[in-house]
Amino acid sequence: MRALVTGGAGFIGSHLIDRLVARGDDVVVIDNLSSGVVAFIQSHLDAGRVDMVEGDICNPDDVGRAMAKDIDCVFHLAANPDIRLGTRITDTDLNQGTVATYNILESMRLNGVKKIAFASSSVVYGEDAPLPTPEDHGPCMPISLYGASKQAGEGLVSSWVGTFGLQAWIFRFANIIGARGTHGVIYDFIHKLKNDPSRLEVLGNGLQEKSYMEVGDCVDGILHVMANADAPLNLYNLGSHDTASVRRIAELVVEVTQCHDARIEYTGGDRGWAGDIPRARLSIQKMLQTGFDVSMNSEDAIRHTATCLLEEIGLE
Ligand code: NAD
Repeated sequence: MRALVTGGAGFIGSHLIDRLVARGDDVVVIDNLSSGVVAFIQSHLDAGRVDMVEGDICNPDDVGRAMAKDIDCVFHLAANPDIRLGTRITDTDLNQGTVATYNILESMRLNGVKKIAFASSSVVYGEDAPLPTPEDHGPCMPISLYGASKQAGEGLVSSWVGTFGLQAWIFRFANIIGARGTHGVIYDFIHKLKNDPSRLEVLGNGLQEKSYMEVGDCVDGILHVMANADAPLNLYNLGSHDTASVRRIAELVVEVTQCHDARIEYTGGDRGWAGDIPRARLSIQKMLQTGFDVSMNSEDAIRHTATCLLEEIGLE
């Protein structure tokens, strides 16, 4: 199979490519390197297993160049990863999320590409959903601009299935963490301790409680579900069994970095920023019913990630 991975030089995309290459797929990447890192996929580029198109999915011509390479399946992961950015700049998620997803789907139609996996998010459920939240919860009322763009992307994917006969897998991810992470709470905490090992500022009151999934589990889950769910439109939450609080993450990062003298200071308030969802947990029953389970729960994934990122970032 020849796969096109949008955002393939990114955190989740590069782990997905490791799996695709290992199972023998040919891989084309389109990435503008805004948050991606070529080094994450350099070994596959050197081995000739990955063909990289440096381009912007906001530009239909760039998308067309990648899509014309005889693609069987698109893994659409490229997006602005920074949910907080929407509090300052209000058209990033619209352009890099909603419009860019339209560009991908339209280029698939024009090039006769029939399968797509779309990286959506738990944040589409908003903050009033029952916990754990099942896929059939609705109406979904996202409270961030990023969440709105994911919901719009889901709608576009679903409409291309209904109108143009695509087959799609929409994945609503929990918080995905692991090696090569370039953003997120654990990455931020390690950088803060690197700048000042005597204190760790935590946004909010530390009681925010979310579910964390290790990135290897995430990409294994994607490929397992795609091999085992064959409806025209397949919607799956991907997450772990439990949650961890931000307070607990701060304690674990202090422990792993051995910054034992660090004072953990909370900025206060029930959420990290406007549009943040203080409590999130996905129902993973549907994922489990496909026969896939995670290898790590939230706390193991956090400890593992802190250890990997400490090695990658260093404290010196
Ligand atoms: P990431 O920032 O590491 O990866 C995104 C990649 O897309 C990067 O390589 C970036 O350079 C590329 N990109 C961004 N805009 C682009 C554009 N206009 N044109 C071409 N390339 C572009 O983020 P990630 O954590 O790997 O996230 C991957 C996907 O999963 C995203 O769609 C994200 O919204 C979604 N997601 C991630 C999480 C998580 O916890 N990491 C949770 C839910 C959903």
